[in-house]
Amino acid sequence: MASNTINPRRDFTLRDWRCSACGKLLGRRGQGGIHVQFHRGHQYIVSGNVTAVCRCCGRLNQARA
Ligand SMILES: [Zn+2]
Repeated sequence: MASNTINPRRDFTLRDWRCSACGKLLGRRGQGGIHVQFHRGHQYIVSGNVTAVCRCCGRLNQARA
């Protein structure tokens, strides 16, 4: 009798990392870390503590991958 169909791992696999002030997308959390992509095509996958300044409002955002 499996009544609970919610899979908790799916939410953990890929999650947006957004600016806490304006909601701008800063990156995405993946299995290997936080995936950050810039306009000119640079892409970074970082792990550990990450700090980013929002390009829209200048807010300092911190996350942990
Ligand atoms: Zn912002």
